[in-house]
Amino acid sequence: METLLLDENQIDIAVELIKRGEVVGIPTETVYGLGADASNEKAVRKIFQAKGRPADNPLIVHLADFSDAEKYTSCIPPLACRLAEKFCPGALTIVLPKNERIPLVTSGGLDTVGIRIPSHPVMHEIIKLSGRPISAPSANISGYPSPTTANHVMRDMGGKISAVIDGGQSHFGVESTVVSIENGDTVRILRPGCVTAEMLSEVGGNVVIDKAVLSGLEKGEKASSPGMKYKHYSPSADIVIIESDFEKFTAYVGENYGKNVFALVFDGEEENFPYRCMTYGKNSEKQAHFIFQRLRELDDLHAEKVYVRAPSKEGVGLAVYNRLIRSAGFEVIRL
Ligand code: AMP
Ligand code: MG
Repeated sequence: METLLLDENQIDIAVELIKRGEVVGIPTETVYGLGADASNEKAVRKIFQAKGRPADNPLIVHLADFSDAEKYTSCIPPLACRLAEKFCPGALTIVLPKNERIPLVTSGGLDTVGIRIPSHPVMHEIIKLSGRPISAPSANISGYPSPTTANHVMRDMGGKISAVIDGGQSHFGVESTVVSIENGDTVRILRPGCVTAEMLSEVGGNVVIDKAVLSGLEKGEKASSPGMKYKHYSPSADIVIIESDFEKFTAYVGENYGKNVFALVFDGEEENFPYRCMTYGKNSEKQAHFIFQRLRELDDLHAEKVYVRAPSKEGVGLAVYNRLIRSAGFEVIRL
């Protein structure tokens, strides 16, 4: 299949493809998504096939406005409405009980569905003009770092999907925050993102962070967010997270240095770092913006081992840390 590379003025072509049940790479404010009609089982299966995604990993459903959530869910608790009022459109996904309009293929067999209202104008237009709910998981091969440019999508999905729309670089760089509502008064963070725990607590209610955000699951333990149980976001290189100060980090890399060994350090640190390295930003927002791109670039450089300065776990940092420990298969060294 030839994959068309479209620009932002060719949204009408993407809309026609979506209506016909095809899959299109679409820019969003988080990362690029692999979009198809969420209510069309055949179209949704094409997404799973293109990504090589396990069938039990549910797809988020994107709508033009939160008021449309009623069409696809059976119950919307008042706390979900308050969250939507504050954070939609934006990088927040709210898990709600689904109704029969969302096929089980889309929800990975669950009786719930994650609903997001994206703010990116291209994604918004596609939802509006197609009149369809759009499933859009990150547009990478399953397990690989998420794409933040149209070129990344082309590299992973070229030949497998109908088209990709080039909307430039993704603004946030990591996927949406995924939350569920418990007992009507508690927001559980299943996947951290740029809508932080601190921001979520501003609407009232308790905010809890699911155990799987910061650690792997024990054998046999059930995942509240199925995607969190897989090794994920991994380049070919072996990633190791180092929690330490810069001096100890430098010494450790020195002791373990060799061919195709790289370090990923904070902006500014490269000046005093005597080994091969890349930087991935100084503050958490910048790190979120760059992390997936850097992991892909390290593969382009044929890195085999990458030692990464551990990010902060505060605010948006929690999202960066969550992605990195998964890309490292939970290999964290504390010095
Ligand atoms: P992606 O599609 O790559 O952005 O990944 C979607 C993430 O949202 C995965 O980690 C899923 O486990 C999570 N997710 C989607 N829908 C649900 C749901 N109904 N319940 C729990 N987690 C969900
Ligand atoms: Mg993904």
